[in-house]
Amino acid sequence: MVLEIRKYGDPVLKKESQNVETIDDNIKKLLDDMVDTMREASGVGLAAPQVGINLNVVVIEIEGKVRKLINPEIIAKSAEEETVEEGCLSIPGVWEKVKRAARVKVKYTNENGEEVIEEGEGLLGRAFQHEIDHLKGVVFVERISSLAKNLLAKKLLKMKKETLRIMKEEEGIKL
Ligand code: ZN
Repeated sequence: MVLEIRKYGDPVLKKESQNVETIDDNIKKLLDDMVDTMREASGVGLAAPQVGINLNVVVIEIEGKVRKLINPEIIAKSAEEETVEEGCLSIPGVWEKVKRAARVKVKYTNENGEEVIEEGEGLLGRAFQHEIDHLKGVVFVERISSLAKNLLAKKLLKMKKETLRIMKEEEGIKL
């Protein structure tokens, strides 16, 4: 099932997420729905806050391989950094260069409850870092240079206002 992707300005994207305690059917369904949503939006990664749920859950699909990460953490980072352009399904139309570690090692639980330790570089390493940031309430535009931030400020403010306007409108319909 494809879920609604929350957009920049939605407070759910700013909240820190909680760990999953039990991998039950609800969590498995959430993971499947997040994969559907990511594919529908042609993304390579999606974090639970982006579908309005503050749980430490991430999905990534790169080169046909789907990863479902529960309670992921970065346990090591390379000193070497790379600056690459990124985008985000929650911030449509914005592409900016972000400096991140070139390689990271992550630890997570998979949907079968097994602990996985995996190293990622290139696009995978970047996806790990970008998605785990979402779980801490950080979106990539907070990691860009201050010059780029200044250039983008108006656009982001407009996007935030629009998101809040739509949210208020939807709330009104529910009432
Ligand atoms: Zn994102």
